[in-house]
Amino acid sequence: MNKRWTIDKIKTFVENNSDSTLLTTEYHGFSQNLLFKCACGNNFEKSFTKFKNKNQRKCDVCQPPKASR
Ligand SMILES: [Zn+2]
Repeated sequence: MNKRWTIDKIKTFVENNSDSTLLTTEYHGFSQNLLFKCACGNNFEKSFTKFKNKNQRKCDVCQPPKASR
């Protein structure tokens, strides 16, 4: 069964599972880039797939894409 995400569910997920806030107000699909606000104040774009499945839940400053550890 496919879990159907809505923008409300995503917003709740973001608030419950990260320090970031979701700024995007419409969700069109997994490939869409969503706009988040990081706890440090930076805005960053990320698809929900990456955010959720790859644990990329902060901006590139707080969580560099190629962290060595
Ligand atoms: Zn940050």
